[in-house]
Amino acid sequence: MGFFDDLKATAKTEMDGVKKNVKAAQLQSELNDLKRAETELYAEIGRICVAESGVETFGDTGVKLMDVQEKILAKEAEIAEVKGPIAEKVCPKCGAEVTADMKFCGNCGVRLGD
Ligand SMILES: [Zn+2]
Repeated sequence: MGFFDDLKATAKTEMDGVKKNVKAAQLQSELNDLKRAETELYAEIGRICVAESGVETFGDTGVKLMDVQEKILAKEAEIAEVKGPIAEKVCPKCGAEVTADMKFCGNCGVRLGD
């Protein structure tokens, strides 16, 4: 084979390699979707089983689940505390929720005093 034939062969091989990589990435993405769907179904089955049998039926895993659920509740309470009440005050005219930095009511447009 001459130089240009070699070059063509190399280019073709590289192109095949790129196509293979693209195809593999696509298949990997489809596989990931299927695995995600499987995980979601297992979670759904888990919720059904816990609801029917009680979390204590599941030994250490059940204990871990209750522990995580307690932490979720605590974290949600913490977030609510950090955010504070959304409405700082209400409009004296219409009663709409307004924040302290608002000069006018967003609902009725009345001027808000300090
Ligand atoms: Zn208002």
